[in-house]
Amino acid sequence: MMRRKLTVLGATGSIGVSTLDVVARHADRYEVVALTGNTRVDVLFDQCLQHRPRYAVVGQEKDMAGLAGRLRSAGLDTEVLAGPQALERVAALPEVDTVMAAIVGAAGLQPTLAAVRQGKRVLLANKEVLVMAGALFMAEVRTHGAVLLPIDSEHNAVFQSLPPDYAGDPVRAGVSHILLTASGGPFRSSSLERLKTVTPDEACTHPNWAMGRKISVDSATMMNKGLEVIEAHWLFNVSPDQIEVVIHPQSVIHSLVQYVDGSVVAELGNPDMRTPIAHALAWPERIAAGVAPLNLPAIAQLSFEQPDFDRFPCLALAYRALRAGGNAATILNAANEVAVAAFLDGRLPFLAIAKVIAATLDAVPIAQIPDLSAVLADDTRARSVAEDFLVRWPA
Ligand code: NAD
Ligand code: MG
Repeated sequence: MMRRKLTVLGATGSIGVSTLDVVARHADRYEVVALTGNTRVDVLFDQCLQHRPRYAVVGQEKDMAGLAGRLRSAGLDTEVLAGPQALERVAALPEVDTVMAAIVGAAGLQPTLAAVRQGKRVLLANKEVLVMAGALFMAEVRTHGAVLLPIDSEHNAVFQSLPPDYAGDPVRAGVSHILLTASGGPFRSSSLERLKTVTPDEACTHPNWAMGRKISVDSATMMNKGLEVIEAHWLFNVSPDQIEVVIHPQSVIHSLVQYVDGSVVAELGNPDMRTPIAHALAWPERIAAGVAPLNLPAIAQLSFEQPDFDRFPCLALAYRALRAGGNAATILNAANEVAVAAFLDGRLPFLAIAKVIAATLDAVPIAQIPDLSAVLADDTRARSVAEDFLVRWPA
C-alpha cells in the first residue's frame, strides 16, 4: 500500500496530539513528513523522536538552534525551520499529499491556503480559517481541486450524514436543515449573576472535551457554536436559516441532517476527537481510532434544550455576522480572538467578551472582501478597534 504523506500544522496542540495518536496506530498507512509547533518545543522534540519527520517548524527563530542540536544528538536529520513562511512551505511540499490544519486562530489561514492551492487533501480543524475568509477559501478549494474534510466533530458528523455525492447542493439532496449539537459548555445552566465572576480556569474546564484554551473559552461563551454555524454555511452551502443549534449536554450525537421527507440522519459516538480525525485520515475507508465503543445503555439518557441567546449573546453575534456577509465574520473572528486573549490574561471580564465583539462589529464598516489582502487588512483593523474597546470593561 502507498503510505499517505502527512504534514501536521499545530502538531503540539490538542488536535495535533490526537492526530499523531491515530497515525501511530497505522504506521503502515501514514508517514509524517512535517510537524509544526509554536512555543512548546519540548513536545515537538518528543514528537520528532517518535515520528521522525523530514521537517520540524517552530514559531520563533530563537528556538531553532536548540531544537536542531537536540535532534542531531538523537541521531535525526530532521531539518528545523521557523516562522510563518516555513509553515506555508511545509504545507505545500510536493511530497506531501495530506495536511492536517490544526493551528488555532487566524495564524492558520495562510498555511492552510498554501495546502489548498497545491490541491492537497486538507483535514480542517482550524475553523477560524472559514470564519475569516470563507468565500475566498472555498473558491480556492474549487479552483485547485483540493479535497476538504471537516475535523470539527459537528461538521464531520454532518459530512457523514449527507449523501456521498452531496457536492454542496442541498436542494438536490433534499436537505431541509442542518442541526448542530452543542454541549452548552461548563456554564450551560449558570445564571447571568454567576457568569459575571467566571475565571479563565473555570472557563477552560469543559464537561465533555479536553481542548486548547482558546476553543475552551469559545465553548464557554458559545462563540464556538457561532463559529461553527458560519463554518457549516461555507462547508455545506446552506443558508443561515437552514442552520439550527440544539443543546445536547451528553455530546453523543455530534450533529444531524434533517431532510425534506422528515428523515433525520445523525452520527453518534463517544466524545473523542480521534473519531473524526481517523474518519478524515482514512476517508472513504475506515480505520480504528482507539476510541471506546459507544455504550448506549450505560449512557441511558440523551437530552435536548433550546440555546439561550440572552445568556450566550455570542451565538446571536455570529448569526448576525453571517447574515451581514462581506467582512462581518472576519471582524467577528478578529474581535473574538482579541477578547478571548484578554480574558485569558485576566484583563477582561467573561461577560465583556461579547460586548467587545458587538462594539467592534458596530464600529468597523461592513464591506466586501475581494481578495486575501482585504481579509488581512480587515483582520488587522478589527483587532486594533477591539484592543481599544478593552479598556471600557476593566477586569
Ligand atoms: P491548541 O491550543 O491545543 O493547539 C494549537 C496549535 O497551534 C499548537 O500546536 C500551537 O503550537 C499552534 N499555534 C498556535 N498559535 C500559533 C501561531 N501563531 N503560529 C503557529 N502555530 C501556532 O488548540 P486545539 O484545541 O488543538 O485547536 C486547534 C484548532 O482546532 C482550533 O481552530 C480549534 O477551534 C479547532 N478544534 C479543536 C477541537 C478540540 O477538541 N481541541 C475540536 C474542534 C475544532
Ligand atoms: Mg466542534
